[in-house]
Amino acid sequence: MALMTGEQYIESIRKIKMEVYLMGKKVDVPVDDPILRPSLNSVRMTYDLAQKPEYKDLMTVKDPETGKEINRFNNIHRSTDDLIKKVKMQRLLGQQTAACFQRCVGMDAFNALWSTTYDTDKKYGTSYFKNFKKFLDYVKENDLTVDGAMTDPKGDRSLAPHQQADPDMYVHVVERRPDGIVVRGAKAHQTGALNSHEMIVMPTIAMSPEDKDYAVSFVVPLDTKGLFMIIGRQSCDTRKLEGGNIDVGNAEFGGVEALVVFDNVFVPNDRIFLNGETDFAGALVERFAGYHRQSYGGCKVGVGDVLIGAAALAADYNGAAKASHVKDKLIEMTHLNETLYCCGIACSAEGTPTESGNYIINLLLANVCKQNVTRFPYEIVRLAEDIAGGIMVTAPSEKDLFDPKLGPYVEKYLKAAPGVKTENRLRILRLIENLSLGTAAVGYRTESMHGAGSPQAQRIMIARQGNIPAKKELAKKIAGVKE
Ligand code: SF4
Ligand code: FE
Repeated sequence: MALMTGEQYIESIRKIKMEVYLMGKKVDVPVDDPILRPSLNSVRMTYDLAQKPEYKDLMTVKDPETGKEINRFNNIHRSTDDLIKKVKMQRLLGQQTAACFQRCVGMDAFNALWSTTYDTDKKYGTSYFKNFKKFLDYVKENDLTVDGAMTDPKGDRSLAPHQQADPDMYVHVVERRPDGIVVRGAKAHQTGALNSHEMIVMPTIAMSPEDKDYAVSFVVPLDTKGLFMIIGRQSCDTRKLEGGNIDVGNAEFGGVEALVVFDNVFVPNDRIFLNGETDFAGALVERFAGYHRQSYGGCKVGVGDVLIGAAALAADYNGAAKASHVKDKLIEMTHLNETLYCCGIACSAEGTPTESGNYIINLLLANVCKQNVTRFPYEIVRLAEDIAGGIMVTAPSEKDLFDPKLGPYVEKYLKAAPGVKTENRLRILRLIENLSLGTAAVGYRTESMHGAGSPQAQRIMIARQGNIPAKKELAKKIAGVKE
């Protein structure tokens, strides 16, 4: 099968009978739900852009194994050029959606599993690489979207998985059968789950031999028996039920997160990628997190481009564009945003081949990238709010703007620079609100902090990769220290 069009993708998701709950109710057709639909539209863009000749080079790859054209989201990176193009593709999609487009977690899981299953088989004589490759061939052939689920609820953070009072705080094997395993537990914060055909599950931390039942990785389709999703709330989410297209800030695109529950889910043997080899749980986590920290040097930069543009327009509409402090704030926002991009490109350009044949990013630089992402978008948001002014959070609704009695007053008192339509001014202010405080703040602001691992997780990796002893030797040599 060739690449799917966006429309074919939507219809393929519609056919999957998922069990989804939103605000206490079962959602019969998630694809048509007004709160959920914008998140599906974001993933759709990964299909739509792949159809456009001008984006072919970024969005698609000629699969070296089959010679067929595949979507880059299903690619195994085989060069630093592949790694760099991945980041550029993510920036492009961030610019076009101003939201999380979700498909990256699957791509990052593919590349982490490719090398980790290879290494596990080499040590234990298992057949996880064969299992994984068979699955990946199916994904490439059918142009599927795959979720990569890592974060467990974790319960008491001071205890290892096997020490938890409730054993389900980490996904684990509850039964081993000749034909497969039965697993129980949950994965939290799953942005792409709802819009994916398949879900890859991976462990969330390094493990000791006592955690054997928790060192498990596998893939299941989203309509698997025992799997269901409880959708998370977002600030201002019910604005999507009001029927307008201004107050939502971004009417077309968004993202939603789900708590995914695995209530005794059966996984057949050929869909298992790790099962008890605890010494490879840490490597899988480290590699997936590394790839996803690289990803943030692309996607968040693209969304940042939209936010900077919105702030600049807000200044234009206010008649403040010529003020030197406004110009300087836009320079500062650009500087911060491009610094994140530099990190994303740098960790890609410094990538290296693994024994399994794919390329991995420079882990130190990828962790530095994500550490910067935990900070800079906050400053970019602060500056955008500064430029936008308080009206960003006090403006009347679009219903007032279009009300026969109130509309003329809203027009009169909210007009700013000559020739600027009040409606356009409101649209831009609502977009800034959406990115800084509304539904998209999950994907731009808080996800910058916690997505792909919270700041401390990167600091642990920076400590591990930073090689302070080698730096001490440099200093000793320059200073003439002889011990
Ligand atoms: Fe992709 Fe960014 Fe969303 Fe992660 S947060 S899935 S990298 S868009
Ligand atoms: Fe993320």
